[in-house]
Amino acid sequence: MHYYSLGKNSPNVDFRTAAITGQAPDKGLYFPSTIPKFTAAQIERFKTLDKASLAFEVMKPYVGGTIDDASLKEICTETINFDFPLVPITENILSLELFHGPTLAFKDVGARFMSRCLGYFSKEKKANDRNSNLTKSTEDNTTTTKPTTVLVATSGDTGGAVANGFLGVEGVNVIILYPKGKVSPIQELQLTTCGQNITALEVEGSFDDCQAIVKEAFMDETLNQQYNLTSANSINVARWLPQQLYYFFAWQQWVKQYQDEAGNYPIMHIVVPSGNFGNICAGMMAKASGLPLGHFVAACNANDVVTRYLATEKYEIHKALATVSNAMDVGNPSNFVRILEILENNFPDLTKVLSSYSIDDTTTKATIARVYKTNNYTLDPHGAVAFAAAEIYLSNLEKDNTGSNAQFNHSAIILETAHPVKFPEVVEEAIGQTVALPDSVKFLLDKKKVSTALAANYAAFKNWMIAAS
Ligand SMILES: *Cc1c(COP(=O)(O)O)cnc(C)c1O
Repeated sequence: MHYYSLGKNSPNVDFRTAAITGQAPDKGLYFPSTIPKFTAAQIERFKTLDKASLAFEVMKPYVGGTIDDASLKEICTETINFDFPLVPITENILSLELFHGPTLAFKDVGARFMSRCLGYFSKEKKANDRNSNLTKSTEDNTTTTKPTTVLVATSGDTGGAVANGFLGVEGVNVIILYPKGKVSPIQELQLTTCGQNITALEVEGSFDDCQAIVKEAFMDETLNQQYNLTSANSINVARWLPQQLYYFFAWQQWVKQYQDEAGNYPIMHIVVPSGNFGNICAGMMAKASGLPLGHFVAACNANDVVTRYLATEKYEIHKALATVSNAMDVGNPSNFVRILEILENNFPDLTKVLSSYSIDDTTTKATIARVYKTNNYTLDPHGAVAFAAAEIYLSNLEKDNTGSNAQFNHSAIILETAHPVKFPEVVEEAIGQTVALPDSVKFLLDKKKVSTALAANYAAFKNWMIAAS
């Protein structure tokens, strides 16, 4: 297994290099040379495999021998040491709850997997450097193992997952930039209370300002050289690919619940609240490797580049619009090129497997209120966008079915990507109740925020970076 750049202008690399560098030198995204194909017998066996073993089997081909089996098994076991329950909301919509990880965000899985891979590679490099220094003459003896610096801008959710995932990982420092006053209180505590190798910069500006600083840092050759900069967003294959696991875990539970004696079960359609399209693209990879999944629906907020593309075949990026589902406020989804690659850029094929709906803020809030009242289920704003899109998709299927005597029996799952307590303003207004903090994060309330204030410009960041090291 190797990885090629979708920019088509960089050398092929192995998983290790793709994970360490994040992006190819030509700024293209890395894509695996082959999508592993599981046999029917393997898929059958997957039905009853424990989570860690399944994760190991799914990830092993992608890692392509750059991590030994025992270490990969350990990485997988640690990455997914929490639950991914599939919970019914209505008769035909179920919620795959991806918020039971340490920071209550689905990004925990990708961040935990990636951080452990980088930790493994850093240890391995240290050992290699030590060995080569023993055999080299003394004048060569200058090799030092530079730590990797993960630089990440966050609107709230990514930062916490990355901070928590990378905490204590040797050989890796993490710098998180977040917009002052624009993340929720619990999110801020998740970002700013880790200590150790995690530093939080509180930027006097917007999320876009944070992102602009990070982008400029990656373009700054001297800074890159000096600090081994890498990103921890879904561009990185080590964060993107393990997201496939959600779909395997969902399918396991679906089969267990719905399989009849003959081994048949209804199709599971999947609705994914999408921003950068890393998560949904990972699901489409799982399907391409043989997992029997149904139709994919990309649920978007007002940032509807893909929704419009599927309707018009015109891909028009725009500046990100602010919405109540702010983790999906993305005007130019970086992973969409990977979806096109899976489908070999065949537009008619793409529209057969993927639909997309854009849900406005009014509908999102009304959906949270309605589902709470009718079904006694508390959606977060991102899950609510997915729920509303699922309803549209299923009712369109039903319409298509009228006239035939086929009985309507389609069901869908939505991916609940964050716990509602992370978006208290929107959710509490919609349901007229406070949302209780889960026990697993109550300890944060006793912690003290530690952050460094930073002006919203690149020069301020660079000065801080140089002074801090
Ligand atoms: C990041 C995020 C998303 C969007 O995921 P993509 O992989 O970028 O499409 C959706 N919901 C929440 C809560 C998120 O944090």
